[in-house]
Amino acid sequence: MAKETIKLTDLIPQVVGDVEALRASFGAFETHPSQQADLGAVQAVLTELVDRLQADHPYFHPNYAAQMLKPPHAVAVAAYLATMILNPNNHSQDASRATTPMEREVLKELAAMFEFPEDFLGHLTWSGTTANLEALWVGREINPGKGIAHSADAHYTHSRMSEVLDVESFAVSVDSLGRMSLTDLEEKLKTGKIGTIVATLGTTGLGAVDPLADIIVLARQYEARVHVDTAYGGFFKLIADTDLDPEAARHYAAIKDADSVVVDPHKHGLQPYGCGAVLFKDVSVGRFYKHDSPYTYFTSADLHFGEIQLETSRAGAAAAAFWATTRIFPLTRDGLGSILAAGYRAAQNWHELLLESDILQPYQKPELDIIAYLPRAKSMSEIDRLSQAIFLQAEQAPRTEQIHLATYMVKPNALFAHGINVETDMAKARILRSTLMKPEHETWVPNLHKHIEESARNLMK
Ligand SMILES: *Cc1c(COP(=O)(O)O)cnc(C)c1O
Repeated sequence: MAKETIKLTDLIPQVVGDVEALRASFGAFETHPSQQADLGAVQAVLTELVDRLQADHPYFHPNYAAQMLKPPHAVAVAAYLATMILNPNNHSQDASRATTPMEREVLKELAAMFEFPEDFLGHLTWSGTTANLEALWVGREINPGKGIAHSADAHYTHSRMSEVLDVESFAVSVDSLGRMSLTDLEEKLKTGKIGTIVATLGTTGLGAVDPLADIIVLARQYEARVHVDTAYGGFFKLIADTDLDPEAARHYAAIKDADSVVVDPHKHGLQPYGCGAVLFKDVSVGRFYKHDSPYTYFTSADLHFGEIQLETSRAGAAAAAFWATTRIFPLTRDGLGSILAAGYRAAQNWHELLLESDILQPYQKPELDIIAYLPRAKSMSEIDRLSQAIFLQAEQAPRTEQIHLATYMVKPNALFAHGINVETDMAKARILRSTLMKPEHETWVPNLHKHIEESARNLMK
């Protein structure tokens, strides 16, 4: 099979035509006058829309090396669009006779990726946040009256959702590389107040991998549940054994021993927003979702996703898009994994360039594809001023030369822990951070590095 760049224009007319034919096969009917509109007016609004989209940064471009943003693959867009025209709702089988089975298929593949048992319980969600909320809620139901421990670098929604659930949350300190401290975790477990531990594999800030294999040992000892938040990092499981550092690979291998796991196909799974997933190892947690609604139309005996999720309506299109994408990019090292591997190599190669640079320096070696770096300056205030100036200068260039970076806040002690000795004339400083999610970043990194070096050099003159 020859491979080529898949363009949306090659796919959209085909799927829209096919779906129109599908609709027509049920017999024609007139659109009600109340839903009719002036075609010229509709086209004008769409022109205005695209014009307003000019305000966005080019999230799809390798020059965008800032936050966790990446466009969906054309396969996902076409599949989503085709399905969205019919708008099935994966809440109920009856409302999604085609897309509920697709969701089951992709869930099986996700479970296999994490080496979960074949009889697991899980579903897609609108977001990683709701997926995590479900896992924390199930944790509270199983260990009532107990709290949630997550690392200080975990996603901020874990403490927010603990408030929603009215359970105490405990921020476990992190080591110099941003990974959960086992010593501090054990201190907290000893209080007897922890019911669920959240381990993050791929923190949002630095892409750090919490020591899950060791966390699980402690959790067993203190009878706590373990939930793995791999909203960002989950798909790195595909390349853990072949590409990642063996220590990270050891913790990825331990996901199979956790109680639940969350991954966001809308981050590293080539999907448009609206696609997270949660998987539970023990199917009996389904009992917590029990409800009895007079207006829900569960008619078949098979399990409906609406019976085992906190949300109700959910896009069948999201399941269809992920299903179609994984037909083309299967959840294997050579499928989707090869895309993540390129971003991983981009980060590792950039790290090498930073080590050799006389003007920039790495903050730490990236565990995944998120990298933090800073100018070689003498004081906190200089680091902060230069980082902010580089960040602004990079994005203020003409369109084709713009580079988009993000910043990350560090304290003096964190810099010292990384062997970066600076004058502490400020309590906090911004450094630079880049998420290299796009495989194109692999060839782009030398370019990005050169531009940022030049910018730093000019500012430090
Ligand atoms: C992005 C992210 C979340 C939140 O997921 P959403 O899909 O944005 O709601 C939670 N945890 C981690 C580690 C993340 O990276």
